[in-house]
Amino acid sequence: MKLLMHVCCAPCFCAPLEQLRGEGVGVTGYFYNPNIHPLLEFRKRLKAVKTLHGAVKVDMIYSEDYGLTEFLRMAFDKPQPRCELCWGMRLNKTARVAKERGFDAFSTTLLISRRQDHDAIGRIGQEAAERHGVEFFYRDFRPLDDRSRAMAKERSLYRQQYCGCMFSEYDRYKDTTRELYRGEGE
Ligand code: SF4
Repeated sequence: MKLLMHVCCAPCFCAPLEQLRGEGVGVTGYFYNPNIHPLLEFRKRLKAVKTLHGAVKVDMIYSEDYGLTEFLRMAFDKPQPRCELCWGMRLNKTARVAKERGFDAFSTTLLISRRQDHDAIGRIGQEAAERHGVEFFYRDFRPLDDRSRAMAKERSLYRQQYCGCMFSEYDRYKDTTRELYRGEGE
């Protein structure tokens, strides 16, 4: 099977790639993540994927358009929950590219996350498959999460501290009783 795998970040790609390759699946990674803020964070995650790419010799396609304005407009304008829009944006683009380039199916490393709504990601992937006429390869990769993070650590790949958008960065650090930064000069 020729599979186009949406890659949200390097740490989430390590173990699924290893498992799928072990099964004889022909994996091509696809980086498309306009949800990562700010720009320097986006570049850190992109660089980590490129480092992994070079190390494990996987085929990759990169969509490096940052798309900040498009993402924010979508997040502010639409009544749908923000994360569902975010997953839909990335999975629909992946499905379209998979169809255009003749892949048998597409999938996503988002399916490894224990912190995101797994069932919603699966549903949105299936909807994208029907819209674009290409199969969605569903698998529950969550049991691989610890291994994938350990593999990333062994390779010294950048491991992010928050999901991606500025809203998630705020949620991660807003509790100032847990974070040491108290402001300049204090
Ligand atoms: S929290 Fe994560 S999944 Fe939700 S909108 Fe932000 S980047 Fe996307």
